[in-house]
Amino acid sequence: MSLSTDNQYFLNQFNELASQFLSELNTRQVAKFNTNAPKMTLLQEERSNTNAVELLRQHVLPYLSASAGPRYWGFVTGGANPAALFADWLVSTFDQNVSKDGDSIASAIERQALLWLRELFYLPDTFNGIITTGATSANFLGAVIAREYAGKQQAISVSQQGMQGLSVELFSASPHASMIKSLGLAGFGQQQITVVNTIDGTEQMDVSHLAQQLTNSTAKSKIVIASSATVTATSFDDLHAISALCKQHQAWLHVDAAFGIFERLVNGENGKTQGIDLADSITVDFHKWLNVPYDAGAIFTRHPDIHEQSCNVDAPYLTNDGPFPAFLSLGIENSRRFRALPIWLTLVRYGRDGISAWVDRNIALAKELANWLAQQDNFELVIECQLNVVVFRPVLPQLNSTQADIFTRSFLQKLNQAGVVFLTPGSWEGKQVIRAALSNWQTTQEDIELAKASLQHCFLQLTNE
Ligand SMILES: *Cc1c(COP(=O)(O)O)cnc(C)c1O
Repeated sequence: MSLSTDNQYFLNQFNELASQFLSELNTRQVAKFNTNAPKMTLLQEERSNTNAVELLRQHVLPYLSASAGPRYWGFVTGGANPAALFADWLVSTFDQNVSKDGDSIASAIERQALLWLRELFYLPDTFNGIITTGATSANFLGAVIAREYAGKQQAISVSQQGMQGLSVELFSASPHASMIKSLGLAGFGQQQITVVNTIDGTEQMDVSHLAQQLTNSTAKSKIVIASSATVTATSFDDLHAISALCKQHQAWLHVDAAFGIFERLVNGENGKTQGIDLADSITVDFHKWLNVPYDAGAIFTRHPDIHEQSCNVDAPYLTNDGPFPAFLSLGIENSRRFRALPIWLTLVRYGRDGISAWVDRNIALAKELANWLAQQDNFELVIECQLNVVVFRPVLPQLNSTQADIFTRSFLQKLNQAGVVFLTPGSWEGKQVIRAALSNWQTTQEDIELAKASLQHCFLQLTNE
């Protein structure tokens, strides 16, 4: 048997195109602007392989970002480590449907990946879960499982009967936008969060205020949403204290630890995430600091029964006789990509040491960039760098606060257009700020030097205009 000629053609093209893209990743303009889809209409007839690939080369390839590269520091963005990238290519080739056991090893590999991840993050073996498309879908599932738990406390099966009559209150201090979105999707409503105060100068929950609010709540069920860590100040909530309060009030504790959980690779169980093992559910992202390609994350929970009840549906053709719950009963999709494979191969190839090395390096480089910014006359370090996020803004002494915000926005635009780095905006204590989040496996000292030069250059250009 031989490969079909079409497959052979595309495989060869793939090798060439992927090699070209990867080799240019470090030198191309980091972000592209004003990108429009090609002016092409849908054709009735087929095109040749050559023609189709040529159109892709011409109309798509030049307009991509280097978000997988070492200097895309917007949002919180990882790259694709080589082993994960290889595995991801294979995922499409293998084209397995990881909905349930019974036809391949894929579900077993996903379970093994989850078990290793649990070990990687020093989570007790009471935690189980499912690989998701990212932290947003993990937060959504967290909300869905918490909803089922609240129902159970009130003898309502939410998955079966809906939320009618459910009495529940949600508490959070600095929820990620995706968490707010998830509360809307899960039927709680985006505006139904009781906002807990933060400790001054941070995004960390004020635990005494939470205690007061939980005591004052008249809702029959309570859900607390904590963070490890937030995306601007990288604040970690005090999970020991919060979980104790949750226990006292029989409240569900969900922790959004999308990228903050990786701090455990540096400081272990007694670092800033101390107490995360007491959470009821935990969100983790893998296309950020684990550096696997989009899209991958996970939800972990200590309540496997409630998890399964919340997502299961009975259908004769979906019966599962195996000892493990089917993944289709633990998540959103019935049919699912073999998303676990790039994670599995990353863990096989790099191990704890390899992954910790890039996490360590990102933190050290972020701190160095922050120290440098703090020493510059033209820049102000707005928040002390605690982890991998650097929050700063350019300064001109004679500007009032409105002008300073405008100047910061213009500076960011200029910097991103220069194409050496890509950063994204934020807001801190009413001020427009710029965030640089380092989470790519490839970022080195050299990238920091290139960034410093571009920061200075763009500042001078803007002030001389
Ligand atoms: C990135 C992030 C999310 C959303 O994750 P996606 O991967 O974009 O779905 C949620 N919470 C936190 C804290 C994050 O950093």
